[in-house]
Amino acid sequence: MKIKLIKTKAKAIFTKTRLQGVSYVVNHYVGCDHLCSYCYARFIAKWKNYGEWGTWIEAKINAPELVKGKYVKGSVWMSSVSDPYQHVERKLKLTRKVLENMDKNIDLAVQTKSDLILRDIDLFKKFKNIEIGLTVNGFSRKAKKLFEPYSSTHEKRLEVLKSLKKQGIRIYAFVSPIIPGLVDVEKVINETKDLADYYFFEMINLRGAGKEFVAVLKKEFPDSYEILKDKERFNKFLMDIKQIVKKEKVKSRGVFVHN
Ligand code: SF4
Repeated sequence: MKIKLIKTKAKAIFTKTRLQGVSYVVNHYVGCDHLCSYCYARFIAKWKNYGEWGTWIEAKINAPELVKGKYVKGSVWMSSVSDPYQHVERKLKLTRKVLENMDKNIDLAVQTKSDLILRDIDLFKKFKNIEIGLTVNGFSRKAKKLFEPYSSTHEKRLEVLKSLKKQGIRIYAFVSPIIPGLVDVEKVINETKDLADYYFFEMINLRGAGKEFVAVLKKEFPDSYEILKDKERFNKFLMDIKQIVKKEKVKSRGVFVHN
C-alpha cells in the first residue's frame, strides 16, 4: 500500500456543515489509508489536485495550533472525509495533538473504524461532552477483505466498545453500510446493545460508493445487488430492518437511506 502523504497548512479547522445534527466538522486529515472500497468521501478528490482517491492523504499539520483557544458552539464531528485513527495517525499523532489542544467544553463526536482510538482515552475523559462512534457491520471475511481491507476487524471493534464502556465514555454504534445479505443487523445489535448508548443505521449509498464498488458487489454478491436495485424488494428489506430495530428496543437516531 503506497500512499503519498501531503503535509499542508490550513487557514481554519472548524468547518461549518449542513450535515444533519452536526454544526462543524474537523478534517485535519483528508483522505484515508483504510481504503474502504465504498468510501463516500471519494468525491473530495475532484476538489483536490493530488490524484486519484486512495493514493494520497493530506495532513493539515497546523491543525493543533488552529484549534487552540478556539471555542465553537454546537456539535463538532471528527471527521467527515477521513478516519482520524487511520494508520498514518500512529506515527503522525495529529489527531492526538488536535485533541490535546481542543477546548474541553466543545461538544465533540469522534468516529472511527480503528482500535487505535483506545490510545486517546485519557484525552476523551477531559471533555465535558464527548461521544465516540464505532462503525460496526460484522462483514464476513470475504466482504471485509473486498470492502474494508485495512480497518480493524469486527472483533477488535467490539473490544474497543467494551473498553470505552468500561471507561464510562458515551458511545454510539454506527451500523453501516447495511447491505442485504452481508450485514446481519439483528446480530450486530445483539453484540453491541450492552455497550452502545444509541445507534445510527445507514443503508449503503450505491451512488456515493462509486462504479467500481458497484461492479464488485454485482459480481461477488449478486443477490445483494439485486435487492438494492429492485425498489419493491429494497423497501421490503428496509421495513424488515426497521422492524428489527423496533423489536430490539434500542435507542436509534434512525435508519438512513440515500436517494
Ligand atoms: S474509514 Fe471512512 S474515510 Fe476511511 S476509507 Fe473507510 S469509509 Fe472512507
